[in-house]
Amino acid sequence: MSSTTYCTKCKRTPHPGSQFKKCSRCRMAAYCSKKCQMVHWDVHGEICVPCSPNEVWGIRITVKNSNSTRTWKPLEYFQHELLSSNHPIFSRGESCPVTKRVGVPLIIYSTRLHGEGGTAGLNETSGKPRLRVEDSDGFAPPSWQKCEGPGECIVVREDGKPLTRELLEALYSFIVDLMAYPGITNEAWASWQGLLAPSVWQMYARKYYQAQNNAGRLGFDDFFPLVD
Ligand SMILES: [Zn+2]
Ligand SMILES: [Zn+2]
Repeated sequence: MSSTTYCTKCKRTPHPGSQFKKCSRCRMAAYCSKKCQMVHWDVHGEICVPCSPNEVWGIRITVKNSNSTRTWKPLEYFQHELLSSNHPIFSRGESCPVTKRVGVPLIIYSTRLHGEGGTAGLNETSGKPRLRVEDSDGFAPPSWQKCEGPGECIVVREDGKPLTRELLEALYSFIVDLMAYPGITNEAWASWQGLLAPSVWQMYARKYYQAQNNAGRLGFDDFFPLVD
């Protein structure tokens, strides 16, 4: 897997020819020092499980109370979940065009919309689809619009890289901001579609991570796109 080319916590890279030590339990994370490893444990501990090659970390999004009017705090709704390659998300899930356009290709699986014998139900937070919107107009497909009521969905990266709750939170925030952009109705100086680019997302995410990090939230160390 990835993560050996830089420290998972501080993103430092090792001297040429040398390598940082990997977490001995999961072999996924790597750290430049014991200090970085310890500081990062509160974040990493949740997903520090030995994975087999046919497993990947996804996230389950759960809505506990759709009528809740309190401010949405995404991390409360996101739970890490280890998915094996025979999970139905890989055969019946739908890809999310907007996230794909910005370079984070996600597949979304709704336990009610795609699950066996499930009744129709909306599966994203606050009763509105966010991730599964079309890149042409920002609308959810008809099958999603027809659904009502809370439900659950699972998301995973199509490229097999692990998905973190922090990344998903930043993506949600990005899409919500895109929706509020006047360009979606052709009244702005730039087209909405022009914003669906990896560079725009990366600038947005970097700032988002920085703001959360400044607010003292763990897990929002400097954002950068994982290239390996
Ligand atoms: Zn470090
Ligand atoms: Zn680990």
